[in-house]
Amino acid sequence: MFAFFLKKIEGLSDRKTVKKIAEIVFSVAHLGLGKMSGKSRCPVCGARLVLISRPVVSKELASASNYDDKWIAFFNQREGEICISCGASLRARQLACALLRWGSETQGLDGASAFSMMGSDGAKRLRLAEVNSCGALHKALEGLPGLKFSEYEPEDSSVPHEDLLNLSYASGEFDMVLHSDTLEHVPDIKRALGEIHRVLKPGGATIFTIPAVRDGRKTVARATLKNDGEIEHLMPPVYHGGSYQRLVSTWSSTNSGTILKTCLAIWDLRPRFWSTPQIRAHL
Ligand SMILES: [Zn+2]
Repeated sequence: MFAFFLKKIEGLSDRKTVKKIAEIVFSVAHLGLGKMSGKSRCPVCGARLVLISRPVVSKELASASNYDDKWIAFFNQREGEICISCGASLRARQLACALLRWGSETQGLDGASAFSMMGSDGAKRLRLAEVNSCGALHKALEGLPGLKFSEYEPEDSSVPHEDLLNLSYASGEFDMVLHSDTLEHVPDIKRALGEIHRVLKPGGATIFTIPAVRDGRKTVARATLKNDGEIEHLMPPVYHGGSYQRLVSTWSSTNSGTILKTCLAIWDLRPRFWSTPQIRAHL
């Protein structure tokens, strides 16, 4: 399987060079996280973790996206169970877990929460790119002098626009690139990952999430970009997002997760946060 994908990415970049990237950290949300302990602390804000729940999947969205009960439960848990102190969703908390581990193991930083670690003096030297807001985790990052924060379509005109397919950043600029539930909207995942690789320093890392459910279904391409720049819809268009809606280009399940397998093939590394025990320990 890897050979197949490696063949697919020939020409994207020098694989030997790519292998020199020391670390890729994945934070992938999926089901089966187990019960959260009342003694746990929120990895974003550090407060005792008390969750409040609210359903986030409307009937209209479930119908338009063809979500079954498993997908609805997945999104309600992932996006709807939030820390009462900082509002961090499970997705943001998982990103924070990965960030904490990366900071501790590779940058020599201390801190039991993203707020404390990213507020430390040691974090001031970090060069980070946050491509689209990482939800409540953004608050922990926004004070960093080395952060470049962008949105694809910023509502706030002071926020720069960035496109994962064509980043404006210099090569080798960042220690870390963060993006969350963005790849599934990108029509060319390999090119996006190539761009991320380009802007990372040697030894840099990327932390990201994608929506992926272990349901036995195959990953599907819902839309592609034609050479003339026009969108070709391979399935009825589906949109999701926060305050703004984005066309879903690729939809993933973990059994055949094309996005993940493409990532693995490009970097030839095992995802370190694929399995849940580490995440569960933090939560
Ligand atoms: Zn919190």
